[in-house]
Formats: sequence, C-alpha cells, structure tokens
Amino acid sequence: MSDAFKGYKGRALETLKKFNVRVWSETHIQSRRGAFKGIILPRAENDDDRHLVLKLANGYNVGVAVDTIEQMHQVGYKEAHYKIPEKEFPFSPAKPNIKLFGTGGTIASRLDYRTGAVIPAFTPGELYGAVPELADICNLSTEKLFSVFSENMGSAEYITLAKAIGAEIEKGIDGIIIGHGTDTMHHTAGALAFMIQNSPVPIVMVGSQRSSDRPSSDAALNLIHAATAACRSDIAEVMVCMFGPTSDEYALLHRGTRVRKMHSSYRSTFRTVGDIPLAMVQRDKITPFRNDYHHRRKDRKVDIYPYFEERVTMVYYYPNMHPDIIDALVEKGYKGIVIAGTGLGHVNKPVYPAIERAVKAGVAIYMTVQTLWGYVHMFVYETGRDLIAKGVIPAENMLPEVAYVKLGWALGQTDDLEEVKKIMLTGVCGEITEREPYNGYLIFQGGIPEIEEFLKKVHK
Ligand code: ASP
Repeated sequence: MSDAFKGYKGRALETLKKFNVRVWSETHIQSRRGAFKGIILPRAENDDDRHLVLKLANGYNVGVAVDTIEQMHQVGYKEAHYKIPEKEFPFSPAKPNIKLFGTGGTIASRLDYRTGAVIPAFTPGELYGAVPELADICNLSTEKLFSVFSENMGSAEYITLAKAIGAEIEKGIDGIIIGHGTDTMHHTAGALAFMIQNSPVPIVMVGSQRSSDRPSSDAALNLIHAATAACRSDIAEVMVCMFGPTSDEYALLHRGTRVRKMHSSYRSTFRTVGDIPLAMVQRDKITPFRNDYHHRRKDRKVDIYPYFEERVTMVYYYPNMHPDIIDALVEKGYKGIVIAGTGLGHVNKPVYPAIERAVKAGVAIYMTVQTLWGYVHMFVYETGRDLIAKGVIPAENMLPEVAYVKLGWALGQTDDLEEVKKIMLTGVCGEITEREPYNGYLIFQGGIPEIEEFLKKVHK
C-alpha cells in the first residue's frame, strides 16, 4: 500500500479515496457526531478499518467512525517526517547473542510523540533507539515473524515460531526472546513448551500491557528484564517474563505451562497458577525460587515437535448446558474436546448421553477444572465416576488452555487414542505436577487481618 493511505484498509480506505483525501491531509470532516478539523494520521497494520484518525490542533488524536462521515474535504497538507531514532545496535564479542522474534501485540508498537501515530518498532536499531539499555545486556538481532494482536495467533503461527526458534538454537544462539501480545501469551507459551523440548537455552516470552506512549508503560522494563533472563538465566525453558508486583521493582519468570493472564489491565497480570514462579528478575540479578528446572546447557540438542490437530476444542461448562453442543462438535468432525468442568470436574446429567456418543464416535474427551487451582478428582462424587465410566479422562491439574494446546499437539502426532492418552498424562514440562504447594495459591485478599498486617510491614 502506498504511503498516501498508510495503514488504512477496507472501509476506511474507501472513505479516504471517495473524498479524495490522504494521510497528512489537513481535513474538515462533517459527521453525524459533529464537525472536526485536523490532520489525517497514518495507522498501524493492526488497526481496524472502521476509523480515520485525526490529530486535532490541540494535540489530541480522535478516531472518527467512517460510517458517520457525511462530508470531508482537504484544506491543506502537512506531512510530518517522523522516524524512531535508529542507531546501529552495537556488537560486543563479550556479550551473549540473543534473538528476538516479533509476533505483534502492544509491545511491537510505539507511538510517535509528534504525530500521535502508532508505528512498529522492530529492527534492532529501532529497539536500541527506544530502549538503549538493551545494548548493555546483549547483542540483539530481531526478526518480525508476524504482526498481529495475539487473539490472531493460532496453530500455524505456533508451528512457524517453533521451527524458527529451533533453527536459531541450532545456529548457536545464547537465548531467545519472543515479543507477543499479552492476551493469549499463555496459550502460545503452552504450545511452545510442548513443541520445543530440550532447549539448551532460555526461551523468554514478553509483552506489555500498556503501550510505550503511556507514562506507565511496562514495555521497556519488560524488554530489559526479558533480555536479562534470556542472557543470564540458567533456566532453559519456555517462560513468560512480565511485571511481578504492581510497581516496577522486579519481573517474574513463569513456567510456560503454568502461567496465565489474570487481569485485563494491570501490569502485574501474569501469575503462575498452582505453583510458585520460577524466578525473580531484576536489572542486575536473577533470583531463582526453585531448582527443579531444565538448566542451561549449550551442548544439548533441541527437539522440535511441530504438530497440531485443528479439530480440537475447549468447552467451558455452565449449568444448563444442552447436550447438542457436544453432538454438534462430533458432527463437525472434532477429534478432541477439553472440558473445563465445575468443581472437581463435573457437567450436568443431560450432557452425559452426548459425551457417551462422542466417546463412541472416537472423540478424545479430557476434563479440567474451572477453578484453575487444584486437581480434577472424578472419584469423589458419583457424577464424576459416571463421567469416567463414559470415557472422560481426567487431565490432572493441567490448566484448561494448556490441556487444549496439549490435546491439539498430541492428536497432531497420532490418531491412536491410547497413544494420545499416554502423551496427555505424561508430564512434559510442569503442566502436571504431583502437588500444588500452599504458597502457590491466591494470596493478598485485602481486609483479611493477617494480610493487612503483612502489608503494613512491607508497604510503608
Ligand atoms: N490485545 C493485545 C494483544 O494481546 C494486548 C497486548 O499486547 O497486551 O495482542
């Protein structure tokens, strides 16, 4: 697309063309919501096709819905020449070599302060311009694999990513960073943890909850912590590195199969579920919380298992669910279903016959729990026993999303359901644990006397 319409597509692009207006045009817009005057800004690849973005004279940007525009005409033209300061990323033979793969998300974008346009920052030079501290940590090379918000990641992207990481590790890289949208980072982390095994080096996923134009952005610090972990950590696993507390004191490293996004906007959104995190990362220090991880060993050979069966799904059970949901999935050819059941792993009685039909039709059905913390225990109540008798397989304490990606991965390798069961119930990288420690459970419920007392001591 030419720069005249940079970032505009679909209806937004048609609207610009219809009124003979382009990016950097100073424009009068008459819309059903009122009149606006401003400069049409370029948009980022990830943006929607329903708005034009205008920079107003007061410096604010507004999005104008294209459907509301009645009239629009150019009154001037003011092209802003902006660029992220691009400096050559310095190379030092003494520093570890790190590869950063970009997939998109908030972390891949930054706002140009003069124009208010969101522009992707992804060459090493741009990253160095934006976060110069990275050069103190490592030699960084970058590659943009995708440019999507993370809800658009899927099995094809997982496979491309796993293969690209494998190739880079075989070339001898010292650590991998993956920039990723935070929304589904835990799905991708789970998938990569199964697809990439025996990694000799750390594989660190990182994102940001707030874009770098906001004073409270976590983008730069998360990148610095992720680079520190990729270079210096002894933990050679697929991990997520994000803000630990609500302040910027440290980041936490979470195991890829036990991590989950738990808050839609807090920076401290990622939490290890059912266990404690792997380590704490500060600018100059990594403090492991445990020792039961794959240690860094450069002489180890990585194994890549890039498989995924598309016809696998996850069903979040709710009371009053009707059996036709399950029947429809079988009819559509789904080969695997992960149920996030209530309590210890339950669904209502009307669904039983549909489950029985699905199992008879050769569909693999695994049970997980909506409570997230704790194990599936289907022998406690008669309902659970009935479900087991009908062929539902309890998935221990695998998180629902992790069981989903693992089932896709397992069915991508074989149709033999006994083999699939063996794969599902054999722990690969912490997705099934023998016990969940008490200090891996939720804490900090304000108002509770012992918590208030603790907070008084710590937060002065
Ligand atoms: N919607 C974005 C994504 O997950 C949010 C983010 O990057 O944090 O891609």
